[in-house]
Amino acid sequence: MVAGGATSEDCVFCRIVRGEFETAFVAESDLAVAFRDLHPQAPTHVLVVPRVHVVALRDLDDDALAAGLLRLATEVARCEGLTEGGGFRVLTNDGPDAGQTVDHLHLHVLGGRPLPAPLA
Ligand code: AMP
Ligand code: ZN
Repeated sequence: MVAGGATSEDCVFCRIVRGEFETAFVAESDLAVAFRDLHPQAPTHVLVVPRVHVVALRDLDDDALAAGLLRLATEVARCEGLTEGGGFRVLTNDGPDAGQTVDHLHLHVLGGRPLPAPLA
């Protein structure tokens, strides 16, 4: 899924990566982009998305990309002031039981208010 730097024609996050919606990036790297969630669940709710089309965490087989996603998520948290204050949460939903609604891997970066304990 990662090979060749492919993007998917119809995937909404691939389209955002390609700039088709003029979505503002709050941070970016050569591997990933970060933009605000359309329906924020917290004062900071940013999605970190690989530039290549990877469906879900189970398909992530590129170690550099895995590290790059975490590094960009942390950079977002730092830029949002969350590393100085109450902290933040990084999560990803993989598959329908977890509630994944966009089939392009993304990390949610959440913070800015106390977050309820996640379900086990
Ligand atoms: P998940 O349920 O983990 O797949 O999360 C998908 C997230 O993508 C949801 O929080 C949506 O609000 C968000 N989302 C869907 N489309 C867009 C978009 N065009 N721009 C920003 N966020 C989006
Ligand atoms: Zn995609």
